[in-house]
Amino acid sequence: MSEVVRTRYAPSPTGDPHVGNIRSALFSWALARANGGTFILRIEDTDRNRFVEGSVQAIKESLLWLGLDWDEGPDKGGPYGPYFQSERLQLYQDAARRLIEEGKAYRCFCTPERLDQMRAAQQAAKRPPGYDGTCRNIPPDESERRAQSEPFTVRFKMKREGKTVLHDLIRGDIEFDNALQDDFVALKSDGYPTYHLAVVVDDTAMKITHVVRGDEWISSAPKHIQLYEAFGWEPPKWAHLPLILGSDGKKLSKRSGDTALLDYRENGYLPEAMINFLALLGWSLDDRTSIVSRDDLVRHFSLDRVVPNPAVFDIERLNFLNGHYIRAMAPDRWADVVAEWCEKQLPASVPRPIDRNITDAVAPLLQERVAHLTDIAPMTEFLFGYEAPEYEASLLGERLGGEPRAALPIIDAALVALDAIPGSDWDKEHIEAAIRGLEQTVGMKLRKFVPVLYVAEMGRPQGIPLFDSMVLLGRERSLQRLRTARAKAEHAS
Ligand code: GLU
Repeated sequence: MSEVVRTRYAPSPTGDPHVGNIRSALFSWALARANGGTFILRIEDTDRNRFVEGSVQAIKESLLWLGLDWDEGPDKGGPYGPYFQSERLQLYQDAARRLIEEGKAYRCFCTPERLDQMRAAQQAAKRPPGYDGTCRNIPPDESERRAQSEPFTVRFKMKREGKTVLHDLIRGDIEFDNALQDDFVALKSDGYPTYHLAVVVDDTAMKITHVVRGDEWISSAPKHIQLYEAFGWEPPKWAHLPLILGSDGKKLSKRSGDTALLDYRENGYLPEAMINFLALLGWSLDDRTSIVSRDDLVRHFSLDRVVPNPAVFDIERLNFLNGHYIRAMAPDRWADVVAEWCEKQLPASVPRPIDRNITDAVAPLLQERVAHLTDIAPMTEFLFGYEAPEYEASLLGERLGGEPRAALPIIDAALVALDAIPGSDWDKEHIEAAIRGLEQTVGMKLRKFVPVLYVAEMGRPQGIPLFDSMVLLGRERSLQRLRTARAKAEHAS
C-alpha cells in the first residue's frame, strides 16, 4: 500500500476492554504501523447510560501494556481532536441539522410509550421490528413548530428499495436488502448522537482510511454506507474481523476466555505472548509460523492474510506462547520481571524492598520452570526466611502413605549425609551426591523420598530443583530446616 493509512480504535468506555475487542485495536494498530500510517484512539462515549467510571483508564492501560501506542487521541492530542465524542456534540448536531434541511432525515416526535406499543404489535403480528415511519411525512414547518415544545429524535431516511452493498476487504461484497432496513435514530432527544451518526461524522472528520472492527458491526454497515451517500462523503475501506469462538466451538464468552485484557496481565501473562496470541486470531504470517513478535507485525501485517472464517480462542496456545516468551527473554530483563513479581506478590511478612541479590540468584532457575508470572512468588518465598514458610506436618508424609512419622528415617539420613559436607564443599555436586546416596541408606527411590526434602526446605512438595535450592539457602539454613521438619514429623499426631 503506498496510500496514506489512518486507522482508529474506537472503544466505548462501557467497562474494561475484553480480549476480543483489543484484537480490533491490535489489527488497526498493526495496519497503520505496517504502512507507516497513523493510529488514532477515539473514545466513543455518547451513551451516557452505559458509561462506566474508570474504563477510559483501563482502555489506555490495556493498549500501553501491549505497546500499542497511538499517534492521536487522549493524552496525545492531534489535529482532529477532541478525541472524546462527548466533546464533539456540536459536530453531530450540525450534521443532523444538515440532513434535516436536505430532507434526508426528519424529526420524530413518537414517545417512548408509542414506540413500545409499536414493537409489541409488530411482535404479536410476527412482523420484523423497525420504525414504522409515522413521522416521516410531517411537513417541515409543522416539524419546526413542534420542535419548539416537544422532545424529538432525528431519524435518518433509509432507502427502502434496492440493495446496499458493503465492499469488505476481508469478506468481499456483502449485499443488504434495503426493504429490511428502517429509519434509525441518528440523534437522540438529549442531543447526543447515536453510534451510527457519530462514527460516520468522526471517521470522516478524522480522515480515517480503514475501519478495522469486529464482525458484530457488519449489520450496521448499511446504515453507515447510506449516511456517507447522504452526506456525499467518501467512505473509508471496511475490514470486519472474523468472529472469535471459544474452544467449545461457541461464540467466545466470559467463560471461554473473553475477560478483561488486564486480567491476563494480573494472571501472569506477558504482553509479548498476548500480542502473538491475538495476532493469530484471524491473521497469519504464512502457513507455518506460530511465533510472531510485535516487530513481525509491524513488518508484515496485511489485511490480505486475515481470513473471514472464525478464529478459535485456545487458552492452551496462549499458555504455550507465554512459556515460550518467558524462556526467550534476555536474562537481565527476566531478572527484572522476577523482582517485580516478588515485590508485588510475596507476603507482607517479607521485608520490602525485596532483596535483589536473592531474586537475581534464583531468576535463572525460574526461567526454565515458570508457566505464568504468578508462579514466581510462591516458588521464591522460601528463600527469604530463616525457616521454611509455614506448612502442615501432614505434607511430610503425603507421598509416603500419609503418616508424617514415615518421613523421619529419610530426614535423619539426610541430616547425617548433609552434615558430613564441610561448609567449603557446600555446592550442587556434593549436595546431589549426598542426597542420591540416600537411595541406599533408606532403601527407596529418590523420586519417592525427595518430596519430603522439598517440603522441609521449601514448605511445599515441589519447586525449583532441590540441590540448587539448598545451595541458595546455604548449609546452615538447609540443615536447620531439616531439624525443624524432624521435630514437626515427630510431634505430629
Ligand atoms: N464504539 C464501537 C465499539 O465499542 C466502535 C465500533 C467501530 O469500530 O466502529 O466497539
